[in-house]
Amino acid sequence: MNINQSAPPTLPYGQPQPAYPGYHPASYGGQPGSTVPPASYGPSYNGPVPGYQQTPPPGMSRAPPSSGVPPASTAQTPGGHATYSHFGQGDVQNGPSSTVQMQRHPGPQPFGPAPLAPVVSQPTVLQPYGPPPTSTQVTTQLAGMQISGAAAPAPPQTGLDYGPPTSGSFPNSGLYGSYPQGQAPPLNLAQGHPGTQPSQRSAPPQASSFTSPASGGPRMPSMTGPLLPGQGFGGPPVSQPNHVSSTPPQALPPGTQMTGPPGPPPSVHPSQAGYQLQQNGSFGPVRGPQPNYGSPYPGAPTFGSQPGPPQSLPPKRLDPDAIPSPIQVIEDDRNNRGSEPFVTDVRGQVPPLVTTNFLVKDQGNASPRYIRCTSYNIPCTSDVAKQAQVPLAAVIKPLARLPPEEASPYVVDHGESGPLRCNRCKAYMCPFMQFIEGGRRFQCCFCSCINDVPPQYFQHLDHTGRRVDAYDRPELSLGSYEFLATVDYCKNNKFPSPPAFIFMIDVSYNAIRSGLVRLLCEELKSLLDFLPREGGAEESAIRVGFVTYNKVLHFYNVKSSLAQPQMMVVSDVADMFVPLLDGFLVNVSESRTVITSLLDQIPEMFADTRETETVFAPVIQAGMEALKAAECAGKLFLFHTSLPIAEAPGKLKNRDDRKLINTDKEKTLFQAQTGAYQTLAKECVAQGCCVALFLFPNQYVDVATLSVVPQLTGGSVYKYACFQVENDQERFLSDLCRDVQKVVGFDAVMRVRTSTGIRAVDFFGAFYMSNTTDVELAGLDVDKTVTVEFKHDDRLNEESGALLQCALLYTSCAGQRRLRIHNLALNCCTQLADLYRNCETDTLINYMAKFAYRGVLNSPVKTVRDTLITQCAQILACYRKNCASPSSAGQLILPECMKLLPVYLNCVLKSDVLQPGAEVTTDDRAYVRQLVTSMDVAETNVFFYPRLLPLTKSPIENTTEPPAVRASEERLSNGDIYLLENGLNLFLWVGASVQQGVVQSLFNVSSFSHITSGLSVLPVLDNPLSKKVRGLIDSLRAQRSRYMKLIVVKQEDKLEMLFKHFLVEDKSLSGGASYVDFLCHMHKEIRQLLS
Ligand SMILES: [Zn+2]
Repeated sequence: MNINQSAPPTLPYGQPQPAYPGYHPASYGGQPGSTVPPASYGPSYNGPVPGYQQTPPPGMSRAPPSSGVPPASTAQTPGGHATYSHFGQGDVQNGPSSTVQMQRHPGPQPFGPAPLAPVVSQPTVLQPYGPPPTSTQVTTQLAGMQISGAAAPAPPQTGLDYGPPTSGSFPNSGLYGSYPQGQAPPLNLAQGHPGTQPSQRSAPPQASSFTSPASGGPRMPSMTGPLLPGQGFGGPPVSQPNHVSSTPPQALPPGTQMTGPPGPPPSVHPSQAGYQLQQNGSFGPVRGPQPNYGSPYPGAPTFGSQPGPPQSLPPKRLDPDAIPSPIQVIEDDRNNRGSEPFVTDVRGQVPPLVTTNFLVKDQGNASPRYIRCTSYNIPCTSDVAKQAQVPLAAVIKPLARLPPEEASPYVVDHGESGPLRCNRCKAYMCPFMQFIEGGRRFQCCFCSCINDVPPQYFQHLDHTGRRVDAYDRPELSLGSYEFLATVDYCKNNKFPSPPAFIFMIDVSYNAIRSGLVRLLCEELKSLLDFLPREGGAEESAIRVGFVTYNKVLHFYNVKSSLAQPQMMVVSDVADMFVPLLDGFLVNVSESRTVITSLLDQIPEMFADTRETETVFAPVIQAGMEALKAAECAGKLFLFHTSLPIAEAPGKLKNRDDRKLINTDKEKTLFQAQTGAYQTLAKECVAQGCCVALFLFPNQYVDVATLSVVPQLTGGSVYKYACFQVENDQERFLSDLCRDVQKVVGFDAVMRVRTSTGIRAVDFFGAFYMSNTTDVELAGLDVDKTVTVEFKHDDRLNEESGALLQCALLYTSCAGQRRLRIHNLALNCCTQLADLYRNCETDTLINYMAKFAYRGVLNSPVKTVRDTLITQCAQILACYRKNCASPSSAGQLILPECMKLLPVYLNCVLKSDVLQPGAEVTTDDRAYVRQLVTSMDVAETNVFFYPRLLPLTKSPIENTTEPPAVRASEERLSNGDIYLLENGLNLFLWVGASVQQGVVQSLFNVSSFSHITSGLSVLPVLDNPLSKKVRGLIDSLRAQRSRYMKLIVVKQEDKLEMLFKHFLVEDKSLSGGASYVDFLCHMHKEIRQLLS
């Protein structure tokens, strides 16, 4: 179709939809929080262990210890916010190596232009090819390929008409928790610890612990014997070049025709009769950089010219079926690894992909739901690491939700003495600590310091040197657990008060006129019954307060003794103060009548407002001051509509300028307009004041500046452009309900400790850092992720591996101070091949996207893109050079674990932040930039490579989720219907030739032409197809952290442009390369590096 044809659709996705059917409080499902410990430990934790107690009843607050030995740490650092004793800067951190100067890591490499790729005269053709499960080959060659068209990012074509940049551009929203957070039954620990040593400290990395994505499938026999020349490759036709096959790979003699994938046979240029069969040697137990397969291939078996005149099959383009497919990789992993639980008892295991459903059994290492790494086998030396250029990073989600089948971390109470820690590096007791001298001392696994075991913690060792109570103590046998913190871990050495929520509502003209204020106030009346609470608590401990504002602020006294709420106006916004303390923050149930009365009155009070100007920074300031006055942490919920142009601190001007795109000044579009918000954020963090921001802009509001405080305080930003109640209320209310109910850790500090040899050097996410090690989080919710990069500061060794310990100190929703500990042991290697076969591409992409999205703050976007391409090429060239056997330069050889790196990287490169289309607004880009910053691996995966699900291909009675197809227009059949989702957007695409019966069943209209384009709600019809599709939409929404608004798109309709933006394997309107072209370009870059 003609991509240039479309005028911008006049409606957003904008048909009026059936009225919102009413909100049912029942669907809030007052779930207990995920951080709540199970009521009891289960039999195996009930041993007579001195000093060990059962989890206290939820909600019960611990009395401050009145006496007792202070923990070792307290002697060294005073209490106080920035210097929680366990995070003290004065502490020696990782043993002797801590003398190394801590430096902020400058990034994987300096920004600089990528080497200019020469024009490749050879066209490219893919050599589809079956067996080796450990490397992917794409044999390039031959005529017809438009390599030049694939070259690096072309300048975006501006001026193209495209879908409207309106409320659907980046719909966002939440939903009612994907996992009901019911109490999971405690793990059967007896069964869960079958005598294995969770620590596996001395087990050398070996093949048995190596898990490739294909490990669940039939293992390939190791390639030791000579192959049989003359034998054709007889595997089943596969669609993947490296599709795992149970057929032993066999060499092909020259001239043998490969059994290709379905589709046109691959063409091979006659002059290149001979690409060596490649093996990278990663099969089975074989180790080493590149096992020498030279001899097994004595005759240099090649596959080359085809029978028949090759000239008769002039290759036109690389066959998309023959290049690595994300769908195939995802399906293979589901099939191979989805059926068995992932048991964390082995060091350095690569977990199943994030797209695979699997259960986790914690047997000594943290679940991949909490920590995922770019590689589970890291080079022993920095030299090797630098050679490979593979970033060493962990994506950590400390408070991640767990499915109901998995137990929340146990809470350990060591009483007044507090958690046991290493005296030197302050690491917490964990399964990797080594007890010695009959149990009287222990050696720290992080810094090797020998520590005394306190008398109350003493226990005998068994014949293996393991404490006999190891399985009775979570901190000695599990990867993740919590400690109750003592008063020494509290601000000002005082146990915290329960947190408070303050709702701060813009009541300017726009907010009133759109119906937002009325909708919100009505919603809050019921929503306040569902504030987060712990365990079986009858009601939430969280207090609430209310503020409304335009260019002045209105505080409300809602004290329970009042007959009516009282309003106090503060017009001196330059010097914000809180006009009342008593009666501002109240308990919901005590003050319910007054609160309800207030929420009824607010829309009426401002119904006739003519005030269009708003302030913003003073609102946050007021909320923060109120929390400070109440001496508690908390969360502000801001509902804001416009650029704050009223005279006040933090006043902004409209500085949107699309002409800056692709200039050196483009970075200013992502930077804050003023430093005032950074300063304000810092004050908020010191108070434990987290800010969630709901934006309802009709035009530019400077998201880059307004999101500074939410970003630095761990809050979320939601944006509903051109908000209209009838179109957007479901999305907004779902997001709001979810955000209000989310379990949050307040006033938190996170510290990542590592064993000697590596250290955390860089951090990405929604937080604040005032030094190089402590990640300060005013609030951290269940969806927020922190990505941490590691660098070598010494040599690691293969025997001891490398350890990570993430400690999060936080205040729970009930006001309990706790420490959550996650431990993870990784393997270390001296051979590059071991690194390459234990990588996780999805995690790499998460890191690389965050790195790039931060880079745009300081560097031209083109530089950032080039840096990504160069790094990716270096990673793959290093593999080619060191891990693959010599072969023709015409072959592109990818490591099995990274075969999707090019396709995914291309998606990052052509994302709206790095290569915006003409329809993407500056605010959209800033919004997406900050969203991605705290995404987990599953979120970045689907965000960059959307899921495209065919709805009418599988039998209607088949209710399981249909297998996805690749995100490309050529995968769409005009006789079918598809759903596409990326975690933020949800499209239903209808082919023009869909059967009339299907149209009737789904849309209740007689033909395709009667379907309303842009529809956002499907009619509720009583037939199997309608039920199935609506059920699938519900299920997709339940899997995501924000509500995805549905947009129905008809083939050949104007809105289809918007939809096609998400078909990421295709060339994009903004100039982004197609997957095929990008792969060719990447190959060119690699060849250049190798030559
Ligand atoms: Zn230590």
